[in-house]
Amino acid sequence: MGLLDGLSKLGVTNVDTDNLYEKAESTHPALRKEPEKKEEKPKQPEIREEDFLLRKSYDCPVCESKFKDLALKSNRARMTGTTKGLRPIYDHIEPLKYETIVCPVCGYAVMNRYMIPLVPSQKKAIKEGISVNFQGINTDKEVYTYEDAIDRITLALASAVVKRAKASEKAYICLKGGWLCESYLDTLDPEDAKQEILYEDITEKKKEFMENAYDGFITAMQEENYPIGGMDEMTLNYLIAVMAMERGQYDVASKMVAAILQSVSASSRLKDKARELKTELVAILRRNKQQ
Ligand SMILES: [Zn+2]
Repeated sequence: MGLLDGLSKLGVTNVDTDNLYEKAESTHPALRKEPEKKEEKPKQPEIREEDFLLRKSYDCPVCESKFKDLALKSNRARMTGTTKGLRPIYDHIEPLKYETIVCPVCGYAVMNRYMIPLVPSQKKAIKEGISVNFQGINTDKEVYTYEDAIDRITLALASAVVKRAKASEKAYICLKGGWLCESYLDTLDPEDAKQEILYEDITEKKKEFMENAYDGFITAMQEENYPIGGMDEMTLNYLIAVMAMERGQYDVASKMVAAILQSVSASSRLKDKARELKTELVAILRRNKQQ
């Protein structure tokens, strides 16, 4: 089952994601934690997570129920930078926790970017594949924890599989899931014995999400038009290059980096990032050659 293991407590047990994309690869290189560039966050306890949130109204595209869910107030959160892997870093709040919308009546879950009407066959599939066993979810909270957010995004992945979403949507969910785990890991202390099992657990989950994101984006690049998951071709090339480096697929990473550096459409910021990646790549390849 893998990624969907956590869903049994919500009553969703019969969705198989062993093979999210038919062409999924089976390489499992050891996970290397990437160094992250981010600014020091000043401690300002008077600013609360709740202050960034509102309860937004939705109409469920599956069961037509009206419901409310927590969402980010627009223009309130301040982005302070991005990681090497393009994950945005914010002050005081992790917006990734609030990007999944869940209908508390039928269990349909979707990333806010993909909250669009469904065709009748998709509605039927969600009712039969998700709603029948769905045991409800608490959307009446002031804030969502990382655990809540991981459950919610995993539910979105289950809905995407059941409604036969395009590879790009599933890959986007997996990318956001991976980022969410990465952000969660930043709050944990791997040296703390009490957090050791949780740390390993979330590290493993992050790896699974990222591997599925990679496979899905590679499929989407071949089958779909840009933008893919809101990204233009060069941004996605960069993301693939970073992920390929993590997996030890240096040939793919080199190809993507070269495409960005030769492109007339890539921004100078992206080219700078690609150059940094190239330096890293050259060093790894040189080291490997010497061994
Ligand atoms: Zn619903």
